[in-house]
Amino acid sequence: LRNEVGRMERLSLVGQMAASITHEIRNPMAVIRGFVQLIRERSPADQQQYFRIVMEELDRTNSIINDFLSLAQNRALTMELGSLNELILQMAPLLEADANMRGQSVVLTLQEQLPPMMMNEKEIKQLLLNIARNGMEAMGDAGILHIETRSKPGIVELLIRDEGIGIPQEKIKQLFDPFFTTKQRGTGLGLSLCLSIAERHSGQIDVESSPGAGTTFIVAFNISRHKGEAGRAYYGTSGMQEQ
Ligand code: ADP
Ligand code: MG
Repeated sequence: LRNEVGRMERLSLVGQMAASITHEIRNPMAVIRGFVQLIRERSPADQQQYFRIVMEELDRTNSIINDFLSLAQNRALTMELGSLNELILQMAPLLEADANMRGQSVVLTLQEQLPPMMMNEKEIKQLLLNIARNGMEAMGDAGILHIETRSKPGIVELLIRDEGIGIPQEKIKQLFDPFFTTKQRGTGLGLSLCLSIAERHSGQIDVESSPGAGTTFIVAFNISRHKGEAGRAYYGTSGMQEQ
């Protein structure tokens, strides 16, 4: 029964999101249409700029669709025992390249002997990338993005701290709402996706922020739950394979 209720809730959430996604995709479509029309009649210099806007809006539409699909997919994931530190080290070159292009840098502080955890590597990479990119987007030149791991009994934590603009206290609640964005070209789906990934990994996300000084996202994975549920949740006989 509990599974059934969960499934129904998810279906209605997906239904609600389908309504909002229609709305969200219409905006970039309208922009694209407008600029494509203008391109015909303008000078080459203007055309160059309009092409860029059209490409950006197409990319944004694509991101909305991709994020939405990841959110809506309701399949069981393949989980494997892995090292969060190892995963961060694999992602480091990509994150550093992204930061360097913005004149920023990345500092890693990884706890030695961090306990391994059950994870779907692809999803945890996506979570790290989304939160890290938000951090970079919140900072100006020369900002430093700190990525840290630490553990307490039964818990493995991933901390992502930026020196950016910060988030007003009253906004923190809304961050994880689908389509909440303060960016001109944002999708507002990144953090809702991160939250659903964290939840699938028996995790939660806390946000600490001081406007003007920066923000820390703390993702805490409950690894004792992983162990207890490994047999049922991850290696069950029906429908547990990634398709
Ligand atoms: P998007 O990045 O597309 O706007 P997200 O779901 O990733 O969507 O983030 C939602 C909003 O949360 C952002 O638009 C921004 O206002 C706020 N936010 C997220 N991370 C940070 C951060 N590190 N610093 C400041 N604001 C942030
Ligand atoms: Mg984002």
